[in-house]
Amino acid sequence: DTWITADRDHCWHPFTRQGEWEKTDPLVLVGGSGVWLTDSKGRKYIDGNASIWTNIHGHGHPVISQAIKDQLDQVAHTSYLGFANPRASELAERLCGFFPDSGLERVFYSDDGSTAVECAVKMAIQYRLQTGEPDRTEFIAFDQCYHGDTMGAASLGGVGAFFERFRKFGFPVQHVRDLDELLAVSPEQIGRTAAVVIEPLVQGVNQIRPWPEGMLRAIRHWCDQHGVHLILDEVMTGFGRTGSMFACQREEVVPDFLCLAKGLTGGYLPLAATLVQAEIYQGFLGGAEKAFYYGHSYTANQLGCAAALANLDLFEQEQTLELLPEKVDLLGRLLNELAERSDLVIEIRQCGLVAGGELRAPDGSAFPVTDRVGETVCLLARDHGLLTRAILDTVVVLPPLSITADEIRHLCAALEAAINDWSH
Ligand code: PMP
Repeated sequence: DTWITADRDHCWHPFTRQGEWEKTDPLVLVGGSGVWLTDSKGRKYIDGNASIWTNIHGHGHPVISQAIKDQLDQVAHTSYLGFANPRASELAERLCGFFPDSGLERVFYSDDGSTAVECAVKMAIQYRLQTGEPDRTEFIAFDQCYHGDTMGAASLGGVGAFFERFRKFGFPVQHVRDLDELLAVSPEQIGRTAAVVIEPLVQGVNQIRPWPEGMLRAIRHWCDQHGVHLILDEVMTGFGRTGSMFACQREEVVPDFLCLAKGLTGGYLPLAATLVQAEIYQGFLGGAEKAFYYGHSYTANQLGCAAALANLDLFEQEQTLELLPEKVDLLGRLLNELAERSDLVIEIRQCGLVAGGELRAPDGSAFPVTDRVGETVCLLARDHGLLTRAILDTVVVLPPLSITADEIRHLCAALEAAINDWSH
């Protein structure tokens, strides 16, 4: 397979243990339709992780494809530095329309989840510098959180592998474990804090861990009391994942900054948006020295914005949110039944169509990390027609929202077969 040879010779994949590829060649994915992906040998798999938590309405959707093609016939990309474009304007209006009369009415475009968070963090700092609070430029984030791997986003991150070696170069961040620890932060620390940053309702990269109900509302309240901004990272939870269009709507919380990416284009093109409160935007007006110097070559890419508009249209046309509760219930029920039948201990954690099953030995103890049980189960799942991903020993299930009941059954059956293959 020449693609594999070229891959081995020239490609450097994210997060791989370089030099260990020889044992398992990466699958070469060449086609996709709905929740199904096809590899270069013609085998089909359910896409259990919606690419990488991006594909909302599945692959090859004719409406999104057509929207991209139509835009391509007009123009693919133009500069956003001093130029506007129709799709970006329409999209900004639609995104703000989800938060009427809330002040969340400015959209800053960037490229992906990391840069959506990166710009929120830099805006939060620069805002304080420009409004007479130059000492209020630190952040509070949560243990084991993940917000991306650019420098500012990684500074917030609590997952050591991504950031520990760069920490001394990073932005100042204090990590807290939970709401109680946030409420106990010292007045001195509060006085230095520009913003609290959190993945609302559920942490993704931290092996799918839902937060207690009401926590987000309590954080919003705490931020209001102390003049601290709230940055919500909805890069994973945005666009229906947790049951409502955005996770913050579940607790009727409006953030000061809302970071969106992944599902924004339905998973078709890289694009991100950071929604910002009007009052914060005001702090950047008044001349060159107040401007926000952050803008990339592909900011507000027209193809990406066209895909994002089609993605939003599909929520209405296909009643994506209306059909979701039944799918969420079915997935939860099947995963819990699977866990009950299994010889292993499997803890199911779920929030909407975000689910994880943590595998442990029959006596309940964790497997040694070096055994890579989660990863091995995911490799075995391929033989049963499922592509998925494990974070440590938590197998992650985050399919496209367009998945049908039958496909959910197939996905759970394949996962169970893989777990049985491993344990027998
Ligand atoms: N924030 C969260 C909550 C994420 O899950 C991710 C990606 N897994 C990111 C930020 C970073 O997004 P990207 O990989 O698109 O830069």
